[in-house]
Amino acid sequence: MLDIHKIRADFPILSRKVNGKPLVYFDNGATSQKPQVVIDAISKYYEEINANIHRGVHTLSQLATDAYEASRGKIQNHINAKFAHEVLFTSGTTFGINLVANGFASILKPGDEVLVSAMEHHSNIVPWQMLCERTGATLKVIPMNDNGELIMAEYDTLLSDKTKIVTVNHISNALGTVNPIKYIIDKAHAFGAAVLIDGAQAVPHVKPDVQALDCDFYVFSGHKICGPTGIGVLYGKESWLNKLPPYQGGGEMIKDVSFEKTTYAELPHKFEAGTPNVAGGIVLGTAVDYMNSVGFDNIQQQELELLEYGTRRLLEIEGLKIYGTAAIKTSVISFNIEGIHPYDIGTIIDKLGIAVRTGHHCAQPIMSYFKIPGTIRASFSFYNTKEEIDIMVEAIKRATAMLS
Ligand SMILES: *Cc1c(COP(=O)(O)O)cnc(C)c1O
Repeated sequence: MLDIHKIRADFPILSRKVNGKPLVYFDNGATSQKPQVVIDAISKYYEEINANIHRGVHTLSQLATDAYEASRGKIQNHINAKFAHEVLFTSGTTFGINLVANGFASILKPGDEVLVSAMEHHSNIVPWQMLCERTGATLKVIPMNDNGELIMAEYDTLLSDKTKIVTVNHISNALGTVNPIKYIIDKAHAFGAAVLIDGAQAVPHVKPDVQALDCDFYVFSGHKICGPTGIGVLYGKESWLNKLPPYQGGGEMIKDVSFEKTTYAELPHKFEAGTPNVAGGIVLGTAVDYMNSVGFDNIQQQELELLEYGTRRLLEIEGLKIYGTAAIKTSVISFNIEGIHPYDIGTIIDKLGIAVRTGHHCAQPIMSYFKIPGTIRASFSFYNTKEEIDIMVEAIKRATAMLS
């Protein structure tokens, strides 16, 4: 069991006040808060070993390089990648998806198909639309039902020899649905299609095993797992990373350069042009260590309790409807109150120190499906409490009384 008071003490921001009230932070789906060990690791890097990596013979450069590569190894272990060079550091999920989509421009031909799902974040839709425009391939969509679950029978009929890549999120940021990605991956492979999993919303809750999943690509952002912004990971199977062309040209990604011809560096450097986010890469390892020290079993248990309690308490509010009622979901509750705009609730409860997200959550197709402009989204982390849920529910009741 988690000692929740001890956990909360790890996060300095959780003890601040917002608008004169104790902060209730329920916008973890947008970004997580950072524990002191992560904040300290950022300063420590700049105070003690800051240098450019993979270049200098001098001591600091070697220390920084070693720390950066050690962090890559930690991520490799965390996601159970076969090789460290299958773990690419990126600036985040969005960058990772764009890297892969760009690479597929050299593979796709007119008539080929790309399959996305009806519940993707815009960053897992738009790069594929751009790819299809460039190559003449067609974008197809796996539909969902009213509970916010992907319809696997429809998926089966969409797959064909024309399908070249299937790209879906592991967990939906707007609905909390946990998708059956193992089934999706195995079915796609039967048709020879590659699979990219957008794990941005999954890694805060689960520890993915990329070899057991057998996915071809798995992407996520550091800032949603207690790490800094501007750092993320693209896992790719070695065979795919060797096949894809580099995304950006520059320093560090080459073996030899002349004006006649450039040969590219080995993995992972082929995809890491220029000076990377060295501090971010190192500190992402610290964040992953922190999450593992809390323990994913503990994290899931706490979040499941919060999901159940939060769902029950919110449903006490008259006219409240939850979007995303999948059988298997994580600690995200998206909802609306009849006759009231989500933004108005969000604004009023912010005055009471409560941070929730309102809007379309970068997933407009989901909002179109439910014929709504947006929702209020409360997304819980392991450092949240039932008492905070009570504060939110009371605040929403007050706001609703004011607005109706
Ligand atoms: C947050 C999120 C993204 C985008 O991540 P960035 O860090 O903004 O690049 C993509 N997909 C899902 C499911 C997300 O939750």
